[in-house]
Amino acid sequence: MHTTALVLFSGGQDSTTCLAQALSKYERVETLGFDYGQRHRVELDMRGVVLGHLRERFAHWAPRLGQDHLLTLDALHQLGGSSLTDEVAFAMQADGLPNTFVPGRNLLFLTLAGALAYRRGLQVIVTGVCETDFSGYPDCRDDTMKAMQLALSLGLERRLLIETPLMWIDKADTWRLADALGGQALIDLIVEDTHTCYLGDRTHRQAWGYGCGTCPACELRARGWARYAGSPTSSR
Ligand code: ZN
Repeated sequence: MHTTALVLFSGGQDSTTCLAQALSKYERVETLGFDYGQRHRVELDMRGVVLGHLRERFAHWAPRLGQDHLLTLDALHQLGGSSLTDEVAFAMQADGLPNTFVPGRNLLFLTLAGALAYRRGLQVIVTGVCETDFSGYPDCRDDTMKAMQLALSLGLERRLLIETPLMWIDKADTWRLADALGGQALIDLIVEDTHTCYLGDRTHRQAWGYGCGTCPACELRARGWARYAGSPTSSR
């Protein structure tokens, strides 16, 4: 029986939903974020806001929410070439992947998460990767996660589980999952506090939260919200 988890927590909608699910399941939950030289620091700033509001507004989760960790990864910025880390515009690459793809990023994140879980005695690593996402990032695939689980468990000589609650659901179902876990209070927190926009826009308030409304990340979040808010199961 697993009782402890480490959640890869970026401050976005997906990882906040994963964190809520971990808090409803596990007795001790710690969080991990990465400063990898992303162009927009707002995502890192919102992590603390989300954690603070979860502690304040969800009394049954607060005692389970343990230490937050932030690790620095300069190497990804040094490698360059991604619109998430460099001053280049969003575009599709010749291989069909968007240039928001940071090669190796999730592999490094999971390796460091494994090392931290080892140090902290945590049994499960939770990550919000999703294979049904629009981008087709190869390091978000279910097979990649299973391979990493095996590599970490062997390389650390300790059984680690990688849990991916969002792997097979779409963005509307991610909103529905948050609704089921924390009701309107969690939906409101995710709308107000989590950050998704690739351009780092926190000035335009849309029905689904802050963002430019036109970048691929905003479009994906908006489409999911429209299907969620328009469905009969929504508490909106
Ligand atoms: Zn945007």
